[in-house]
Amino acid sequence: ENGNGGGAVSFFAMPEIRYTRLFIDGGFVDAVSGKTFETIDPRTGDVIASIAEGDKEDVDLAVRAARKAFDHGKWSRMAGSERGKIMLKLADLVEQHAEELTRLECLDAGKLLTVTRTVDIGTCGSTLRYFAGAADKIHGETLKMSGQFQAHTLREPVGVAGLIIPWNFPAIMFFTKVAPALAAGCTMVVKPAEQTPLTALYFAHLTKQAGVPDGVVNVITGFGPTAGAAIASHMDVDMVSFTGSTEVGRLIMEASARSNLKPVSLELGGKSPLIIFDDADVDMAVDLAVNGNFFNKGEVCVAASRVYLQEGIYERFEKKLVDRMKSWVVGDPFDPHVNQGPQVDKAQYERVLSYIDHGKREGATVLTGGKPCGLKGYYIEPTVFTDVKDDMIIAKEEIFGPVMCLMKFRTVEEAIAKANDTRYGLAAGVVTKDMDVANRMTRSIRAGVVWLNCYLVMDGDCPLGGRKMSGFGKDAGMHALDKFLAVKAVVTPLYDSPW
Ligand code: ADP
Repeated sequence: ENGNGGGAVSFFAMPEIRYTRLFIDGGFVDAVSGKTFETIDPRTGDVIASIAEGDKEDVDLAVRAARKAFDHGKWSRMAGSERGKIMLKLADLVEQHAEELTRLECLDAGKLLTVTRTVDIGTCGSTLRYFAGAADKIHGETLKMSGQFQAHTLREPVGVAGLIIPWNFPAIMFFTKVAPALAAGCTMVVKPAEQTPLTALYFAHLTKQAGVPDGVVNVITGFGPTAGAAIASHMDVDMVSFTGSTEVGRLIMEASARSNLKPVSLELGGKSPLIIFDDADVDMAVDLAVNGNFFNKGEVCVAASRVYLQEGIYERFEKKLVDRMKSWVVGDPFDPHVNQGPQVDKAQYERVLSYIDHGKREGATVLTGGKPCGLKGYYIEPTVFTDVKDDMIIAKEEIFGPVMCLMKFRTVEEAIAKANDTRYGLAAGVVTKDMDVANRMTRSIRAGVVWLNCYLVMDGDCPLGGRKMSGFGKDAGMHALDKFLAVKAVVTPLYDSPW
């Protein structure tokens, strides 16, 4: 076993699994049905732990607890600064338990240990602190109306929030949604993805330790069509914030329409273009494409899965990319020398492999990778396709795995047309030194974020969220807080009241 020496924890040390049950009204409980499901180690396919399988009845209990905490509890009534203090305490607790949380996250999701420590678990605290600072700065406007009236607006917590999160960034997504909801004064029912329930349950325990009142944060582990759907269609859930596939996003919106018309915010799939012009620094361009496609084994909603190269840089880029991939290591994500871990589960693994098959059958050329690897677990070689045509399935559909498609273009106009030739509108990247080209591109691409001479750069203060079939509503930044607030106008006579 590779230790890191000095008596410190071995890289490969496994975390203890402490929390496996639903968290409702401040306590851990079994599912009403008594059912459990297994969460799997994607490195081996072995069972990590049995987790309570929440269903409609458990969601009902959680919503009831959240409702009671919202309607009669102190969370939504206390001073914002008090909520902020508790959130700061929670941030400290997350950081105190960072090592254990990191290992849980890596084990459950197949993520790289070194990256998860700094990026995934590392940013949970900063997200909490960002929104803790916002909790006492929620205020409205005062307006003079026509006639002898005035109004002021209140920004009130919207009520019980349903937060449905995916498996690719379980910890980041948990606080991306929970932190602004807490700051706003909402109470909530969180449903982590069935593939990755471990850190969410651990966080639930920490909310209690931090002093978040019972019933404010409830966590229901379980499956989408049962537990998730019960949240989306619940008459007493006041809003839903969802991150996941476009397909399920549509179901969430339908469930809202059929039930109580709760507002929904959807952060969905993408097929984001990375457009590299002839004048780009080729090393930088390769870096951005590799990171944009293979970071987190391509399980990234903003992945740069359509790489468009201007004709003059194409060959140099391709050569450097092939060189670069020679030193790329796929393997156990706990090993610090590894670049890429396993896909999250068997279903995703098979799905990605079937897209790779499609690519081959449609006539694209495999430049690197193209097959599974490893003796067990859900590992796939980082795959680069060339000779990709715009109408191939691999150029149009979200693959959500380590698959990069290279395509060519000639002019700026063509680049704009190709970038926008998609149903999605989540992200885009542009690599050029020419300011005129940069400005034209950044203003013409219909997407929620355009990264210019960088890619995948995110920050708690920078809004993230798409257009078109990538959804609507923003996660991160102050826009994220707005989703959890309802604006109310209070109108009063000014002077010389007609009444
Ligand atoms: P992916 O396809 O990437 O696995 P999903 O969109 O299926 O992503 O899952 C994202 C989250 O949505 C998960 O927590 C999942 O359990 C949940 N989910 C799946 N189906 C539904 C549904 N019908 N209603 C509500 N939530 C769902």
